[in-house]
Amino acid sequence: MDFRLNEIQKDVQQTFREFAEKRIKPQAATIDEQKKFPLELFKETAELGFFGMRYPESVGGSGLDIVSYSLAVIEIAKGSMSLAATCTMQSLMGTYFLYRFGNEEIYENYFAEALKGNKIGAICMTEPNAGSDLMNIKTLATVTKDGFILNGQKTWVTSAPVADFFTVLSRTDNHEQLSIFFVPSDLKGVLVGKSIEKMGVRASLTSEVSFNDVVLPKKYLLGNIGEGTKCLKEILAEIRIMTAALAIGVAEAAYNDALEYAKTRVQFGKSIGKFQAVQLKFADMAVQLEMAKNYLLYAAYLSDNNLPRQKESMIAKLYSSEISVNICDEASRVLASYGYAVEYNLERYLRDSRFTLIGGGTSEILKINIAKELGL
Ligand SMILES: Cc1cc2nc3c(=O)[nH]c(=O)nc-3n(C[C@H](O)[C@H](O)[C@H](O)COP(=O)(O)OP(=O)(O)OC[C@H]3O[C@@H](n4cnc5c(N)ncnc54)[C@H](O)[C@@H]3O)c2cc1C
Repeated sequence: MDFRLNEIQKDVQQTFREFAEKRIKPQAATIDEQKKFPLELFKETAELGFFGMRYPESVGGSGLDIVSYSLAVIEIAKGSMSLAATCTMQSLMGTYFLYRFGNEEIYENYFAEALKGNKIGAICMTEPNAGSDLMNIKTLATVTKDGFILNGQKTWVTSAPVADFFTVLSRTDNHEQLSIFFVPSDLKGVLVGKSIEKMGVRASLTSEVSFNDVVLPKKYLLGNIGEGTKCLKEILAEIRIMTAALAIGVAEAAYNDALEYAKTRVQFGKSIGKFQAVQLKFADMAVQLEMAKNYLLYAAYLSDNNLPRQKESMIAKLYSSEISVNICDEASRVLASYGYAVEYNLERYLRDSRFTLIGGGTSEILKINIAKELGL
């Protein structure tokens, strides 16, 4: 296995690294504190082509591979997990089903505009009583002569307060399996509820959304009735690879800050990095980061080459998110009291990293599914 990056992948990494250093990092603490959607940075990310990276040139994207996409996600997350969470939603789950199944109107008015950062998309799957257990979704689209009437309550919807359109996973009254619907946010009966105050990724806004007798034309059904879960599975591996990249990005940021600190902080007459207890921490963190990053690239490589990758994407996501929380915690210990201070970024990294334990499937659910892949 050769993980040397090609020229395009290196270019992508460099572009987003510079963007993160120059533009994102200086604003990361402020946007977190203000808990406001980072519109300006979101638009700048769009200008760099991030939202269209995974879509073909024929629809306004750049058709880049998942390795490139993962490298970009790592860099954005190094700058700010809030921005990265918001932008990955826009570039993947918020737009994917429009790309796959949208008609001309949806393509022109929503998908193309979303790639440019002019419109914002969100996905509504989770419900108060359907988190890991999506088959318990109660949102219902009743079939009518002209289309559907949608009713239901969604929660934990990333970007909901600023979204122009939603992709909604729903039941229909004529099929056992779930279906996917396109729902512009300005339709009558669409209500964005209260914002959910979160521990981390605080500039990535999250809300409840309810659908109250929302009238949908037939053309807003994305794909076929009953094929929602099957379609979701198409991008499951990519969602997990992307979440692993988020986890690695924030872990790298924490590791880098702590390393810098360990070289300069002097106690007992020498820099703390000279103490073996501190060195052992860095050796452990470096091993975990290397393993996670290389395994992520392996899973992305499998995906790019259309090879079986369900198990590998789950391993990548599970391992990266667990070591991310561990590295952010260990790194903050290196700074001790300053790791506890809001003025330094370590406490934010630690809060943000915990999000990756949940998005893309919890660790428990991933372990269960990895065991299934092993034939158990
Ligand atoms: C910041 C953030 C943003 C999000 N954005 C979105 C979004 O944009 N759109 C969206 O639809 N959702 C979103 N979510 C929701 C997310 O997908 C769900 O939180 C996730 O699926 C887990 O569901 P839950 O929180 O209801 O936990 P539950 O499913 O209730 O799980 C609770 C606990 O029970 C464990 N558990 C559950 N079932 C089993 C089992 N069978 N065996 C063993 N253990 C089990 C879990 O691992 C967990 O520890 C977001 C969540 C967060 C935190």
